[in-house]
Amino acid sequence: MKKEKFYLISIVILFLTLIGSCRGFTSSPMPGADGVLPADLPQGKSCGDGVCDGPENADTCPADCQEPVPSAGIESSSEEAAISDIPPLYFFYAIHVHGSKEYLPYRDPGMTEVDPVVAENMLAAIEGIAGVLEKYGARATWEFMAPTVQGLVEYQGGPVIFERLQAAGHEIGVHGHRLEAVPAAAVALQEIAGIDPATSSGFLVQVPVSGEAQAQSAMSLVMRATVESGLSVGTVNFTPGGEMNNLSSVCGDQFGVGNDMYLETGNLMHPWHPDYLNEDVCADFPGGKMTLIDHVPLTAFILPGEDAPPDVLGSQHFDQLQVYFDNALGYLAENQSERLAAWGFVTHIIEYAVGSQAENPPEESALEALDGFLSHVDAYHRQGLVIYATASEIAEAVNSGN
Ligand SMILES: [Zn+2]
Repeated sequence: MKKEKFYLISIVILFLTLIGSCRGFTSSPMPGADGVLPADLPQGKSCGDGVCDGPENADTCPADCQEPVPSAGIESSSEEAAISDIPPLYFFYAIHVHGSKEYLPYRDPGMTEVDPVVAENMLAAIEGIAGVLEKYGARATWEFMAPTVQGLVEYQGGPVIFERLQAAGHEIGVHGHRLEAVPAAAVALQEIAGIDPATSSGFLVQVPVSGEAQAQSAMSLVMRATVESGLSVGTVNFTPGGEMNNLSSVCGDQFGVGNDMYLETGNLMHPWHPDYLNEDVCADFPGGKMTLIDHVPLTAFILPGEDAPPDVLGSQHFDQLQVYFDNALGYLAENQSERLAAWGFVTHIIEYAVGSQAENPPEESALEALDGFLSHVDAYHRQGLVIYATASEIAEAVNSGN
């Protein structure tokens, strides 16, 4: 499918969105679902036939020539019929809550002392990002490593930030860069923060460690350990061409079923159940215990001419991400698949601040850039074309056959 086609469809959807939000102010006739304008219909010429034509005007034939008040209702139902044919897109945001040093907010790997400046900066980043999301009623899936859970609870004297996020409908999940980090984070959340997590992340880091030949077995091992830790959902970036993904060549760029849209959308939109028991995580195993939900890689923020994701996100980075989001909507409008489709992206909290160790508070400009992107997404949300969800809510919808 050509990108231009997606752009065109996106523009049409945005146009419908704008029309919809201005519905109360428009009185010009819109094409119906079949594109037929009232002027194309056969018309009579006599006063009282319901058509104001020929010599008739508001004075000579008020019955036919009054202001067309009810037409707005007819027009809007036509628009809604067109929009309702497009399945909703589940929108999610996975946030990895760590810095370049995994033991933050502690000063040292031995986790002996919390750095209060770092703890405050991490909390400010979480609050800043959460505040922008909540302005639109959106919620994120926040994924934590064990030291961050322990450090923030220790600093706040209780699971304050965790309870605050959950109270606003966010999801708290697990993040790990090594096999043993997944159960450690799950236990930390359960025992220190009183949270029973469902979602895990960070799987891919296992694969480069093991090499391509072992990619399937390494990933399957991580998934078995993840399920054994009581986790059943994974936010991943298996998108071919994405970050650190040497599973892609092993899988022949095929993950799940019908996930052929990734060049346009940046992610694999249909979640699947990896067949990790048979060491084939590319294949869909209906009824499997793990649901994988793919997001756009962090590398989607790399601008032309640059070689790494930005230190601090700006509107230019979200503008680039927005093309993928628009294409995801375009894909749904084009294909009208009955299978659940999700689109999401990922960042760390540290992409909102200068530096990578939470040594600085978040930049207002970065939060405003997120705000700008979400206001674009929200225009579709208000039309019912986008559903805000956490990863576990998406998995629940997939597994309930929605
Ligand atoms: Zn990470």
